[in-house]
Amino acid sequence: MFLGYNEFMNISEEFDTIAAPATPMGAGGVGIIRISGEKAFDIAEKIFSNPVFEPRKFNRGWIKDGNTKIDEVVVLPFFAPNSYTGENVIEIQCHGGVNVVKNILNLVLKNGARMAEKGEFTKRAFLNKRMDLSQAEAVADIIHAKTGDFAKVSMKNLSGVLKNRIDDIRNNIFEVLSGITAGIDFPEDVKEPEYEYLTERFEDIISRINTVLAGADTSNIFRQGASVTIIGKPNVGKSSLFNALLSLDRAIVTDIAGTTRDVLRETLDLGIPVTLIDTAGIRDENEASAVEKIGIEYSKQSLDEADLVLFVYDASKGLDDEDKEVLKLLENKKHIIIANKSDLAQTDTGVKISALKGEGIEELKEILTKTICDIEPENLDFVTNTRQQACLKKARAALEQALLASKINELQDLISIDVKSALLALDELTGELITDNILDNIFEHFCIGK
Ligand code: GDP
Repeated sequence: MFLGYNEFMNISEEFDTIAAPATPMGAGGVGIIRISGEKAFDIAEKIFSNPVFEPRKFNRGWIKDGNTKIDEVVVLPFFAPNSYTGENVIEIQCHGGVNVVKNILNLVLKNGARMAEKGEFTKRAFLNKRMDLSQAEAVADIIHAKTGDFAKVSMKNLSGVLKNRIDDIRNNIFEVLSGITAGIDFPEDVKEPEYEYLTERFEDIISRINTVLAGADTSNIFRQGASVTIIGKPNVGKSSLFNALLSLDRAIVTDIAGTTRDVLRETLDLGIPVTLIDTAGIRDENEASAVEKIGIEYSKQSLDEADLVLFVYDASKGLDDEDKEVLKLLENKKHIIIANKSDLAQTDTGVKISALKGEGIEELKEILTKTICDIEPENLDFVTNTRQQACLKKARAALEQALLASKINELQDLISIDVKSALLALDELTGELITDNILDNIFEHFCIGK
């Protein structure tokens, strides 16, 4: 079921007072306990020695359990709606240390707050319209960013770069829909939009969506890392290359063609996390023809999964028909052709390396990184996640229907149905309209205290 904001507002348990440590539990300079909700200030009054709060002023004093002093702290009050969650918020900065933080948190809970769930502060920020869903998701991205570059670009999302793009697309769709609806509802007063105009507008909006989706692959790669699969005939040196790239002896190198072996996966750090997959030994020399098929079938499977394929052939033997057969599979796939065993012979095709001697490996790594990520991290304005991409694709598909319909002068009443679907898909993206399941799923990936 889809819920709007208001329906959420009626769920009272969403809005009781919550508390959690905002800093990781461990020894450190400062520990922070955050309280959010109606009772935040009341609770502070009960446990803090200096509870006369003014906006934008911090107070110093003691946290006390009755007459027992727990810690000397600084308390920061945030008055609703000017806080992270949009509610009254109290932040207690105490001495960093697991037990101090625990003692204060227990006292806060004893005095009327409930322990916050994962991501609950940010969920409230979203529900109280302090941020849209793309910004809330950016918070999780920033916290979990595996690289500094990804954290930086997630920050752009938090500041609303993606949100603005989506709002712009949404406004365009809304404008067209208003035109169509006015024509339908008031046929005497308002002329229905020209089909030529509709076609132009739909094309324009689709291209705006495409621009946002253009960075999708790069976004996914930054977030999840890239899968790189090594393929090629037996004995061309795939395992040797796998080892050379990883600088280890993980894959067993043999000179028997088609040595049966499971798929090997290892993580390679190229700034972007790369999962390197070695498909060595899939074919069995004793069952050449049957296994040939499996080999090809397997290559296809690993191709589906791969963001990039390293196709290896034996430079000392040259590109033969079988190599060319495998290469055909790569027509629509990002790939790099690698001439291995270049220490034995020189060829014209591909990047020349010798996996055995470790020659050309660093150069190959550079080419690999550039091929995986055609956009430099600093040129990325925003990132999208798979949920957002799915919403955008849904909107685009609906607009493509509308475009087709307007090209054949379909009834505008019918066209408006697709336009409305596009609008709904974007509302799902921003969280304007969203199922509670999706929402739970998003905030589950947060940590306690955020
Ligand atoms: P795979 O079956 O494609 O995984 O091939 P392997 O990595 O097991 O290598 C097959 C044979 O080729 C082994 O004897 C390797 O030592 C040899 N080999 C691999 N790379 C090179 C290379 O760059 N130069 C030379 N001369 N031999 C290599």
